[in-house]
Amino acid sequence: MEQFDLIVIGGGSGGVRAARIAANHGARVALAEEYRMGGTCVIRGCVPKKLMVYASRFAQEFEEAAGFGWTLDAPRFDWATLKTRRDAEVARLEGIYRSNLGNAGVQILQGRATLVDRNTVQLSNGMHYQAKHILIATGAQPARGPDIPGHELAIDSNGFFDLEALPRRVVVQGAGYIALELACVLQLLGAEVTVVVRGEQILRGFDDEMRRHLAAEMAHSGLQFRFGREVQSIARADGALQVQLDNGDTVAVDCVLRALGRRPNTQGLGLEDVGITLDAHGAIPVDDFSQTAVPGIYAVGDVTNRVNLTPMAIREGHAFADTVFGGTPRRVDHTLIPTAVFTTPEAGVVGLTEEQALKSHQRLDVYRASFRPLKATLSGHTGKMLLKLLVDRDTDRVLGFHAVGPDTGEMAQLVGVALQLQATKAALDATLAVHPTAAEELVTMRTPAVRHNL
Ligand code: FAD
Ligand code: NDP
Repeated sequence: MEQFDLIVIGGGSGGVRAARIAANHGARVALAEEYRMGGTCVIRGCVPKKLMVYASRFAQEFEEAAGFGWTLDAPRFDWATLKTRRDAEVARLEGIYRSNLGNAGVQILQGRATLVDRNTVQLSNGMHYQAKHILIATGAQPARGPDIPGHELAIDSNGFFDLEALPRRVVVQGAGYIALELACVLQLLGAEVTVVVRGEQILRGFDDEMRRHLAAEMAHSGLQFRFGREVQSIARADGALQVQLDNGDTVAVDCVLRALGRRPNTQGLGLEDVGITLDAHGAIPVDDFSQTAVPGIYAVGDVTNRVNLTPMAIREGHAFADTVFGGTPRRVDHTLIPTAVFTTPEAGVVGLTEEQALKSHQRLDVYRASFRPLKATLSGHTGKMLLKLLVDRDTDRVLGFHAVGPDTGEMAQLVGVALQLQATKAALDATLAVHPTAAEELVTMRTPAVRHNL
């Protein structure tokens, strides 16, 4: 039986980073992948999604161009061209992931891996491999949601990337990152999209004011929201999918996309046999060093359901490798997380929401700018941007940033650096504006819109 220092199960964001860094530290490493190298992010997540977002935004650019003097013959969009080019790019990236692993000296085991005991892994071809350490980085998959009649007629985010043509009418169920991002892509590319949300607002857990602003902007640009509604059944009739809602309404569409969260890939791995008990969500519980309850077995990324974002899986994988093979124990900070929702308009966020901040900071100042960006003056686009800063009046520390509008994801990255450096409002005020930009509002907000005194 071949012996390794480390076997990684899962060739996604977390597993690949951990394998490469561990190999760089001198460990003998094997990585098992059952599907395609690169995992969710590269194959059917962040990367192809962002390419679709770029594709969709041209629709708006073409419309806005007229205000700047351009005349465009009716632009036509070809889904098949985009899909072919997108899939080719994903295949190219997959190749790079494979060669980077090879160059680092990681042995790739193609196939599904399961645990036999705490040091032994079996591959789907029957081969067994042993290692002192095992890292589980198997990610997550779309949650199926309730088994309503006709649920098999719906697709999930994986199915979205397989679509061979743009559906003309779509129901999207869910109001998280995936539902909203894909709803905007489909709508801008020309579909008529209805978003069915069981709650009263989108993006639970985000800043309330930002949620309201984003939902209003999305509705303004043509998405139809059905709040407080569940999908009760889906049936094929009259050449369409008939989606019945819980108030009796029926919506006839060509495609139903359900994006109801994700479920950790922990089934059938043999975890219980080696002594790992899953949490209520089916995720693997770990400590600050990503160590499971079983010595020698670690887990990183979505399978641990801590913060399900690619940069976090990468950070956790890297910290694991440094801790176990690099002689530098490293905990991962799961608190200050810049993130973007790539809707159109997009949302960029870092730090506490107003609701969270008020729980721990009684004297809170809210600075807010809501405005039409300069480009809109000629493009005629009627959408408004929102930039919002939360400041602790006692320490002057900036606690949160919430924004809606073009490039706010890029802003969140840079404001994230400022918050990491514990920036004060005075430091923002002392920073010279870059003019004319939308981001300059961040350093020119003088008067709080709200002063909380709890
Ligand atoms: P994964 O990347 O899922 O990798 C797990 C790998 O393990 C997979 O390749 C799988 O095939 C393999 N595997 C599973 N079981 C086994 C087994 N038994 N044997 C062998 N191999 C196995 N995050 C962002 O930060 N930004 C975004 O814009 C973003 N967009 C997203 C869009 C979509 C549509 C989706 C679905 C997700 C998106 N995410 C985004 C989330 C991001 O993709 C995940 O957080 C990230 O991929 C998690 O990495 P991971 O290494 O934990 O798992
Ligand atoms: P989320 O957890 O973000 O959202 C799930 C949505 O489904 C929520 O609106 C939830 O509603 C709803 N829902 C869950 N169960 C049901 C049900 N039974 N009936 C009706 N509605 C239901 O999951 P996603 O699948 O959108 O994304 C998974 C994760 O992937 C994200 O949380 C994020 O970490 C990552 N991701 C990141 C992206 C980025 O960085 N841009 C992009 C895409 C994904 P409710 O709020 O009421 O619970």
